[in-house]
Amino acid sequence: MSKKLFIKTWGCQMNVYDSARMADVLAPLGYRPVDEPDGADMVILNTCHIREKASEKVFSELGRLRQLKDVKAAAGDGRMIVAVAGCVAQAEGEEIVARAPYVDMVFGPQTYHTLPEMVAKASRKVGSVLNTDFPVESKFDFLPDESAGQGVSAFLAVQEGCDKFCTFCVVPYTRGAEFSRSGTQILAEAKRLVAGGTREINLLGQNVNAWHGEGPDGTTWGLGRLVRELADIDGLERIRYTTSHPRDMEDDLIRAHAEVPQLMPYLHLPVQAGSDRVLAAMNRKHTADDYRRIVDRLRAAKPDLALSGDFIVGFPGESDADFAETLRLVTDVGYAQAYSFKYSPRPGTPAALEHAQVPEDVKDARLAALQQLLNAQQQAFNQSFVGRTVPVLFDRAGKRAGQLLGKSPYLQSVHAEANERLLGRIVEVRIAAAHPNSLAGRVATGEYRSSVTGTQPVEASV
Ligand code: SAM
Ligand code: SF4
Repeated sequence: MSKKLFIKTWGCQMNVYDSARMADVLAPLGYRPVDEPDGADMVILNTCHIREKASEKVFSELGRLRQLKDVKAAAGDGRMIVAVAGCVAQAEGEEIVARAPYVDMVFGPQTYHTLPEMVAKASRKVGSVLNTDFPVESKFDFLPDESAGQGVSAFLAVQEGCDKFCTFCVVPYTRGAEFSRSGTQILAEAKRLVAGGTREINLLGQNVNAWHGEGPDGTTWGLGRLVRELADIDGLERIRYTTSHPRDMEDDLIRAHAEVPQLMPYLHLPVQAGSDRVLAAMNRKHTADDYRRIVDRLRAAKPDLALSGDFIVGFPGESDADFAETLRLVTDVGYAQAYSFKYSPRPGTPAALEHAQVPEDVKDARLAALQQLLNAQQQAFNQSFVGRTVPVLFDRAGKRAGQLLGKSPYLQSVHAEANERLLGRIVEVRIAAAHPNSLAGRVATGEYRSSVTGTQPVEASV
């Protein structure tokens, strides 16, 4: 009999991927995903620990779930298994068990391939099953093939964990040591995705460009080689990868941006700060000028490359002069889009112990100034597309009837009136208007462009 599974996901794309794979692991046990927690047989909170308030959010969500669990039991409708997964589970597993004893399972990001055993244990016993080990085996060797395809644009985890230990970051503690899947395993998963209708693959990893894995030829490949091999898969039109570290931006990967048409001209390359003093204190092991030089090499290879980044303001000890260096770097580089955060002390990380914490109002003011600059750059970038025609991969229905939504090569969201038969297709769209976070356009009838086979006629009416 079919059982209802509700998964709530916080945080990064890796968590979105993990949630989909948890559903794959649970499918043979009869669990089918539903959109609401009410009446569900299992609810999993897949959590993120990267910034503060994560655990408060989890505990307040758990409070609501406890009521739903009681309602289900009182109605004689069986037991709701409540689980906490992901990085908060990894970091605060014991506290969750102590504070919320009605939680049935608490498990970290490396153990969800053992969900069937955990479910069996949880069904037998009262109290929580806690599993926050870092198992010696890789979960990827035990996960079932992914179910029915993820759609037109899919995530594929190739690398996980981190050994870089930036002094502000919890990832090395919650996700564990850096690990790369084999090229063979990745190619097989990519082929299955494409056979299931995927046209775009987003390679995922906390340090995706640190990926090194064995290929079917027995040699060790880097990410540039993997991209080239993926580009040979018939029907795969677009390849992206995220998130990259500047130190791992190897020459071959940079060359792939020039040579592989399926590799999209967009790169998320976080720098965090523009001051060398702060970068050293963050343990980033590169300077602001190192970063500028990498950007120059990338743009020499791919002149239209759109850059994105992550920034932290108010890192301990950051002075006004340091922050001015961040603004200068942003001005020099010019971003198409970026994420910026106030530094959040994370328990157990070295920077959290620093005495020179920056006051909250200073962080607020710096964040506002940085975001003003980044937003202006993003607006100018989007505005420069008005009047141009860009190939858009339509991957979902838009909010309004008759509208489709898709992505430009530069990862801008583009919406246009279009026949739903164009879903999953790359279509030329003439951009009519630019908004802060999206573009609006009209399908340029008569043509669609494939990055692989070039321009072809559109037979479907728009
Ligand atoms: N591995 C990637 C890198 O090195 O650039 C980023 C991974 S992290 C999941 C995503 C982003 O969260 C970071 O780039 C950083 O900007 C931000 N972040 C991480 N820890 C933070 C903290 N303690 N406070 C504020 N932002 C943080
Ligand atoms: Fe965190 Fe730094 Fe590793 Fe990125 S490189 S995951 S910011 S420790």
